[in-house]
Amino acid sequence: MKRVFNFSAGPAVLPEAVLKEAANEMLDYNNTGMSVMEMSHRSAMYKKIIEDAEKDLRTLMHIPDNYKVLFLQGGATLQFSMIPMNLLKHGVADYIITGAWVKKAFKETQKYGKVKAIASSEDKNFSYIPDVSHLDISDDADYVYMCDNNTIYGTKFYELPNTKGKTLISDASSCILSEPVDVSKYGVIFAGAQKNIGPAGTVIVIIREDLIRDDIKADTPIMLRYDIHAENGSMYNTPPTYGIYMCGKVFKWLLDMGGIEKMHEHNLKKANLLYDYIDQSKLFYGTVEKKSRSIMNVCFKTDDDALNDLFIKEAKTQGLENLKGHRSVGGMRASIYNAMPYEGVKALVDFMEDFEKKHGK
Ligand SMILES: *Cc1c(COP(=O)(O)O)cnc(C)c1O
Repeated sequence: MKRVFNFSAGPAVLPEAVLKEAANEMLDYNNTGMSVMEMSHRSAMYKKIIEDAEKDLRTLMHIPDNYKVLFLQGGATLQFSMIPMNLLKHGVADYIITGAWVKKAFKETQKYGKVKAIASSEDKNFSYIPDVSHLDISDDADYVYMCDNNTIYGTKFYELPNTKGKTLISDASSCILSEPVDVSKYGVIFAGAQKNIGPAGTVIVIIREDLIRDDIKADTPIMLRYDIHAENGSMYNTPPTYGIYMCGKVFKWLLDMGGIEKMHEHNLKKANLLYDYIDQSKLFYGTVEKKSRSIMNVCFKTDDDALNDLFIKEAKTQGLENLKGHRSVGGMRASIYNAMPYEGVKALVDFMEDFEKKHGK
């Protein structure tokens, strides 16, 4: 068996210790004689799995008691619809457009209300985070929507927008659990699991209780109602049981690693190693403004497309996989989520050095 360093943006690398544990438990979970996949979601054994997962996530993120944690399905993208369907009261929402994922959410919300783009960095292909200190927030906005870390472009917010008291909603799919956040500053934080947590499909929604309403449009599909999922402890129907089990294992791994504060230090060390190399390189350059740089998705290029392709191809032969940038940016992208070990980033930087020696001017 050979494992590679997987720099995929998602589905992405998971902690090896977690995968091994899951493998060991595949045929017989905790002396039940069955796999978690085969287990009733109503069983006492499974109840403990989902309850532990929620408890550990609450500990890791210091989630206040007046927030619900929901484990849902449909990936992050279904939240683009559920948010307007459940949270629009006056029918007005303000969006901060920092990339393709927000654009999709924005477009979806247009079906349900009046949506305004209050800031955008599209003029420079989303290579920076716009100033969000003096936004033109709508008086009757039900919420302000942002994406904390922009997976495709490799940018992140270092300061939260001034929402003038309006509820802040964030798509944190590619940065959740990568650094400490003050949950109380948000009304909703949601994240698809496949970037920094677990298997694709599962989505985690952390929502302040007073935002969960039962007076939404009566024809809202029952599976798209936060109130129904909250009342039923994410078990209105069969939840993504195995996905939640894997998420729970990753939460335990994070606790063992010393929690989010420790993980943040670890992530900074990895990101700095890579950015420092890029900054002194004469061949590679970063594609985003320095003060907006993501510590999860690192985008870089050479100014020669053929050389970028060669880099990606040769890296693969060295066990450094999935370094191709998103087509809307080009070049390379190294996603260095929590589970990417320091050695992986070191191996990448060593390879970049060798490549530059061969192909640099
Ligand atoms: C990957 C990603 C999504 C889409 O997630 P799905 O689970 O495929 O719906 C949405 N937002 C961000 C920021 C992402 O990185």
